[in-house]
Amino acid sequence: MQDKSFFGHPRGLFVLFLTEMWERFGYYGMRAILLLFLISPTARGAMGLPEAEGTSIYALYVASVYLLTLPGGWIADNILGQKKSIIYGGGLITLGYAILAISSSPSTFYIGLVAVALGTGLLKANISTIVGELYPEGGRKRDEAFSIFYMGINVGSTLGIAMVGYIGEKVNWHLGFATASIAMLLGLITFIFMGRTYLKGIGDEPSAKAKVSDTHAIAHPPINKNVLYTIVGLLVVFYAVLHFTGKIDFSNAQGLANAAGIIIVSITVAYFLFILLGGGLNTVEKKRVAVLGVLFFAVSIFWSGFEQAATSFQIFASRHTERTFFGWEMPSSWFQFFNAAFIVMLAPLVNSLWAFLEKRNMNPSTPVKFAIGLILMGVGFYVMVLGANIAVTGVKASFIFLSVTYVLHTIGELSISPVGLSSYTKLAPRQYVSQFMGIWFVGASLGNLIAGIFAGGFTEGNLQQMPSLFNQVFVIGIVSGLVLLLFAKPIKKWMGGIE
Ligand code: GLN
Repeated sequence: MQDKSFFGHPRGLFVLFLTEMWERFGYYGMRAILLLFLISPTARGAMGLPEAEGTSIYALYVASVYLLTLPGGWIADNILGQKKSIIYGGGLITLGYAILAISSSPSTFYIGLVAVALGTGLLKANISTIVGELYPEGGRKRDEAFSIFYMGINVGSTLGIAMVGYIGEKVNWHLGFATASIAMLLGLITFIFMGRTYLKGIGDEPSAKAKVSDTHAIAHPPINKNVLYTIVGLLVVFYAVLHFTGKIDFSNAQGLANAAGIIIVSITVAYFLFILLGGGLNTVEKKRVAVLGVLFFAVSIFWSGFEQAATSFQIFASRHTERTFFGWEMPSSWFQFFNAAFIVMLAPLVNSLWAFLEKRNMNPSTPVKFAIGLILMGVGFYVMVLGANIAVTGVKASFIFLSVTYVLHTIGELSISPVGLSSYTKLAPRQYVSQFMGIWFVGASLGNLIAGIFAGGFTEGNLQQMPSLFNQVFVIGIVSGLVLLLFAKPIKKWMGGIE
């Protein structure tokens, strides 16, 4: 790719930046009003559901959006190729938000939500995979591209939360959903028209059928169907046993969330087993898949802490944080902006830091960067322990606690998330690349779910427990980070020469 005119990167990256920016605008914008819309009084045209029901629908929506990236990746790898998957996905999302915008009954509303979730499943992992495809040489350039792409994600989410959030909450719910639909439509048009020129020949073919002339392609043996059927069979038996012994209980929100956790974990384990035992991989590839497993585990822990931004931190912000400045009270939801805004500010800095270290041959390896991210997540929670210790005395804590935590968590996110996206594209066996990108987002699905379940402990009556709850996450973050650091060398070896 000769044309380098977007921060020294090919223009194709600019197309992906814009498309993902608009998609995230709609996603985070709609997410910012979804819970409110579900539980606000019907008098304002909202759904007026009881709080527990609204929260569980919200949690299931977010978890399924990210879980659906796995089948979305499979479809791209085997049937459509990435480009078509993104176009169909973008179309479905546009349609889904439009249905939300015109819906006047709960059933049409749920149809709209399902369309958005399916569409995001088709789009989200595949657009990240295509970023990697622009850099067949891999290396640092690819990492840098993912940092730029990540800024697009967060510019989109900042603007989306501001605009859709404001229009939806203050003007009219349905107009908010319509704004999300228009945003996705803009992204889709950008992708189709600019992509024709700047993404020519990329993501057109399903990667499982990629020609051997392709830079990464190697002739690979077919999958072992017997292994596939055995694993699917075991999974079915496992669910049946859980069902008949009453271990899965769909009758209440808590049961539903726990069941979702079991389903997500078991599908991931089954997927890894299938790829390792029946995926037709050689030893080097198998070792890399094992590394992907470790990174999956680490990122799930990271998101479980990080995603409390929308759950326990939101509760801490609204009930226990001093937000009045010179007689004006800042809305508690404004803390949600902090992360996206800090990303846009800090991504170039973190990127230059890696480049600086790279020149001196000191750029930390992927597992070390993951360990740094986990430790920063833990330290952020330690700051929350300090804040919570004040809150339990009945005094509101300064907004500085949440702000410092957000800075630490944002730097942690930059050390894990764009780096992880990039490594997943590099480490995944070529014929499964989009599916593994899907697995990466399944980590986000699991993290969001755990963050939601964890926030259930934050009731008014349970105030005294708050410091120790935050302390638990602090310990989990630090310990998992240190363990990863300890094994960073062997993990790097298993990456088989991939930086
Ligand atoms: N904020 C990032 C995005 O929307 C990361 C989300 C995630 O993976 N949890 O892509």
